[in-house]
Amino acid sequence: MKKRGISSTDAVRAGDRKHKPFDAVPQPIVATAPYTFESSDAIALHTEGAGREREEYGRYGNPTTRAVEERLAALEGTEDAAMFATGMAAISTAVLALTKRGDHVAIFSECYRMTRELAETTLARFGVETTFVPMDAAALADALRPRTRLVLAEMPSNPHLRCLDLTKIVETCRGRRGLKTMIDATFATPVNCRPAEFGADLIVHSATKYLGGHHDVLAGAVCGKRELVSLVRDARGMLGSICDPHAAFLVGRGLKTLALRVEKQNASGLEIARFLEARPEIERVFYPGLPSHPDHGVARAQMHGFGGVVSFVVRGGLEGARRFVDRLQIARIAPSFGGVDTLVEQPAVMSFYEMTSEERAAIGIEDGLVRLAVGIEEPADLIEDLGHALKS
Ligand SMILES: *Cc1c(COP(=O)(O)O)cnc(C)c1O
Repeated sequence: MKKRGISSTDAVRAGDRKHKPFDAVPQPIVATAPYTFESSDAIALHTEGAGREREEYGRYGNPTTRAVEERLAALEGTEDAAMFATGMAAISTAVLALTKRGDHVAIFSECYRMTRELAETTLARFGVETTFVPMDAAALADALRPRTRLVLAEMPSNPHLRCLDLTKIVETCRGRRGLKTMIDATFATPVNCRPAEFGADLIVHSATKYLGGHHDVLAGAVCGKRELVSLVRDARGMLGSICDPHAAFLVGRGLKTLALRVEKQNASGLEIARFLEARPEIERVFYPGLPSHPDHGVARAQMHGFGGVVSFVVRGGLEGARRFVDRLQIARIAPSFGGVDTLVEQPAVMSFYEMTSEERAAIGIEDGLVRLAVGIEEPADLIEDLGHALKS
């Protein structure tokens, strides 16, 4: 499948309403929980599903949120999108909407910590079994069962930025009734990869990362065909996991500059990855844009750019990485990525702190691993800062 770029015209204008209250330029924040009806007859008409399409209660929908959903669907190249309070709200609502007792799900093993926990605790408790699949699209066929309802993969994955072959995953799932593919494309964003073009059924995002883009909002999204998103939206109305209109407004604003930000982060990410790879203090760099990355070929075939996250192993283990991270001046220590500010974290002491070195090694988390989430600062300044921290 040929990769296509997103349109920045869509990023600015998709979902935009022609007539807005007070002739505002941006879509205003409609801060209301319930919506009023003109008469009892109007309620009756609405309940019967007749009359104009309108909102009824904020847990089911909001015009600010709706406009952002339409913009995101346009960027992702899907029929529809639904927004959620967080990325985890999006993932858990979608998974709960699509599975029932006795079902089986397959999750590619390098996945978000809380996605793994959702499967191991809540899904297990409700009688849904999970297989964690090794990070190779060819390994999926062996994991599938007659009751497999969902295949979940991250693109790229965290923290080693593995890029699974989406075409192969979709092909492996083809023809199996009731089986849906769900791609967590938080790291890719629609700028770098649009999984729907490869035939994925659902695309989920933590909009907290690149889509919001400024480290000031928590939100999530599910994109896909109208019918499937509608199923997930119904579950959202019941579970109450919808995105607040204030948060949706910030995501909608972030989307307008998404392509500008991510293209800069792609360029800086690649430059920084090359710089680090040439340094003797660095044991190994994981960046899909480098020929040394195990998925470089797949990444080149299905991505426009390789993103702003660069992972690397600093010599000197836990302590060496800690000293390096603490010496950085521009990058702030924090557990997120995708925003305009550069952030840095050491997965061994942040997300995987409660494990022993051996347990971490078993799941591939090196003690000296550092994840740098490049923002939009000047790459020369970031490189100077990195070089200084490595030297001392
Ligand atoms: C952050 C993240 C999530 C969770 O998103 P929240 O908005 O923090 O709930 C899910 N998947 C991936 C890949 C993430 O990076």
